Amino acid sequence: MELESIIELFVADISKEFRHDGIEYISPDQELTLTLGVNTTHSTSYELKVLEQPLGVLRFCRNHPFDDDELKLLEHYLTILLYPLRNALLYRSAINSAFIDALTGVKNRAAFVSNFNRELDLASRNGTELSIIMLDVDYFKRINDKYGHTVGDMVLKNIALAVEASVRSSDALYRYGGEEFVITLSGTCAEGAYQLAERIRKNVEALSFSSPKGLQARLSLGVATLQKNESGETLFKRADAALYCAKGQGRNQTYRAE
Ligand code: GH3
Ligand code: MG
Ligand code: MG
Repeated sequence: MELESIIELFVADISKEFRHDGIEYISPDQELTLTLGVNTTHSTSYELKVLEQPLGVLRFCRNHPFDDDELKLLEHYLTILLYPLRNALLYRSAINSAFIDALTGVKNRAAFVSNFNRELDLASRNGTELSIIMLDVDYFKRINDKYGHTVGDMVLKNIALAVEASVRSSDALYRYGGEEFVITLSGTCAEGAYQLAERIRKNVEALSFSSPKGLQARLSLGVATLQKNESGETLFKRADAALYCAKGQGRNQTYRAE
């Protein structure tokens, strides 16, 4: 069962015997905060653990203090919550890591496939703009050939970091494969996407690698913006074709799809 459902069920189950106005559950490991009900003046917090493994903090609030008998009862219930909670946390980590690229730490192609349709739905439902940028490292094979695969890996990691640092929190970066990345930009028009692509290109070009000497990475980028009634597939194809044009016109540049 999902983490959120377990907490919700637990809170609903105990609420008859353990009166409270609201709860807050925080799992720093999962970067998750869940609040139910309202936050009132008095509270009691528990750092949940199984065999020294931290499971997050659960806080209960009420507009008058909790007494000892109530807390004893709550602690009894909490022991029942621990194992289901731990399993849900393990499951959540497994799902999350299946969507993360191990080398760069950014989202992977499976995550793109899973999220892209949602982005498209949101854009058409809310009538907002959606742009995508496809980017590919120029002559990356030469970097591998000249400096070795380990340096190639380091370059990819640094490019991913530089791209991540260049985009907004509402933009999502994915490693689509090899030395190719895709970024979805929700709420971004064609001009905004082009300007961002150029900023990314310049930021990556300006990356300075302390060693080996002379190492430099450059990108080609293709930009496309969702048109009325366009499918995700053709949007993706247009960005890919634009990237191909950027390569054909000499690389180290951004090309806009028609
Ligand atoms: P172009 O400018 O046309 O894109 O040239 P390119 O050399 O970048 O393109 P090509 O497709 O010929 O080569 C891509 C190279 O990327 C080949 C492949 O071995 C390398 N590569 C793919 N994934 C990784 C990786 O995870 N680490 C390293 N070090 N290299 C990788
Ligand atoms: Mg390449
Ligand atoms: Mg490539």
